[in-house]
Amino acid sequence: MTDLDSSYDVVCIGGAMMGSSTAYFLTENPDFDGSVLVVEPDWTYDRAATTRAQNSIREQFTNELNIRLSSFGVDFIADFHEHVQVDGDSPEINFRGTGYLFLADTEELYETLERESEAQLSAGADVEMLRPGDVAQRFPYMDADQLAGARLGGMREGSFDGWALFQGLRRRAIHNGATYVKDRVVDLDVEAGRVTQIRLESGRSVACGHAVNTSGCRAKQVAAMAGVELPIEPRARTSFVFDCRTPIEGIVPLTITPVGVHFRREQNHYMTGAVPEHDVAVDYDDLDVRHDEFEDLIWPAVARFVPQFDQIGLVTSWGGQYDYNTLDHNLIVGPSSAVENLVFANGFSGHGLQQGPAVGRAISELITYGEYRTIDLSPFGYGRIERNEPIVEHAVI
Ligand SMILES: Cc1cc2nc3c(=O)[nH]c(=O)nc-3n(C[C@H](O)[C@H](O)[C@H](O)COP(=O)(O)OP(=O)(O)OC[C@H]3O[C@@H](n4cnc5c(N)ncnc54)[C@H](O)[C@@H]3O)c2cc1C
Repeated sequence: MTDLDSSYDVVCIGGAMMGSSTAYFLTENPDFDGSVLVVEPDWTYDRAATTRAQNSIREQFTNELNIRLSSFGVDFIADFHEHVQVDGDSPEINFRGTGYLFLADTEELYETLERESEAQLSAGADVEMLRPGDVAQRFPYMDADQLAGARLGGMREGSFDGWALFQGLRRRAIHNGATYVKDRVVDLDVEAGRVTQIRLESGRSVACGHAVNTSGCRAKQVAAMAGVELPIEPRARTSFVFDCRTPIEGIVPLTITPVGVHFRREQNHYMTGAVPEHDVAVDYDDLDVRHDEFEDLIWPAVARFVPQFDQIGLVTSWGGQYDYNTLDHNLIVGPSSAVENLVFANGFSGHGLQQGPAVGRAISELITYGEYRTIDLSPFGYGRIERNEPIVEHAVI
């Protein structure tokens, strides 16, 4: 059993993407000279969203802050090896810049995509609008007759190895002095509006300067330990990998159909997923595959736009969960008002891998300087939850 000190400056509750990114950015910051403990019960990370994700990154959000968060993710991935090296070694991030392609099958949807593109361009994203003829020219495998047009992102969007991103951050944080302990947080003692003791399943407890809630889908349970309400619930998302009898030549961007089914190439196969028709809260342990989704929802949607996908075979599938923010599908970051040293990094609703580096950096700034220094994330703070004021993000996948 790992020996623990009686007190740490920062304790991260959950050690996957958000816990490791927070630990990484704190321990990389020369202005932070405190101690960091990361509590994580599952060292295989098998059930974490981080391990069950589809590993893509895009700048095509509609909220400027979401665009900037992901843009930092792209920059971080570009120099990944320098950031996370330990003894000259770092995991291979395998970024493939294919772009994201949002399809429109009506003029109305095309106009919506076009309107959104103006905000994206002014936030620095690289996007262009395509008409059916342009789509046919760039992506000849697509049935352009089904389209009114599309919006295509640039080479800064694409896919990467999410496991490598997380492991690189984790390994480097440990190298920098963060302590990871195999245990589970079961309770938080709160006195005078501060978390004072963090109680662990093993029976031990530690005092903390700040507690950071990085527990993914279980964020609501952890917040409740301190008497704070978080509107986050687990929502089932199944990933399917299929192959196609006639493989597609050339680039296949991550493509989003008008019904929200998305697909991209993954080596010789194609990875796909959808928002379920009945998107409701599920049990925390429910990682079941929703097999019907593939036949009833996904296959018709992808075959409509890519005729070659009429003949496909399922290769594998796995279940996962979004840590779904029911107020507005956006992250909740920063302190809760009632418990000032309980900091949230929660509610990513499907964007957390790409936003992980920027959020870890933001929390490290908040803890080290008492303010955000790079991207001001206060609009994504807990205050909007209390005021019941959603932040609008239209491009939710
Ligand atoms: C199917 C799917 C596809 C996705 N695709 C993408 C994508 O393409 N791009 C993208 O950016 N994002 C994607 N995401 C979202 C992304 O995976 C998550 O937002 C991100 O991994 C969240 O990381 P996290 O560390 O907050 O949570 P998690 O990875 O879920 O980790 C939470 C950790 O907290 C631990 N924990 C829980 N309770 C406690 C406790 N009481 N004490 C201590 N530890 C605890 C858990 O064991 C777990 O390891 C996808 C998610 C899914 C499910």
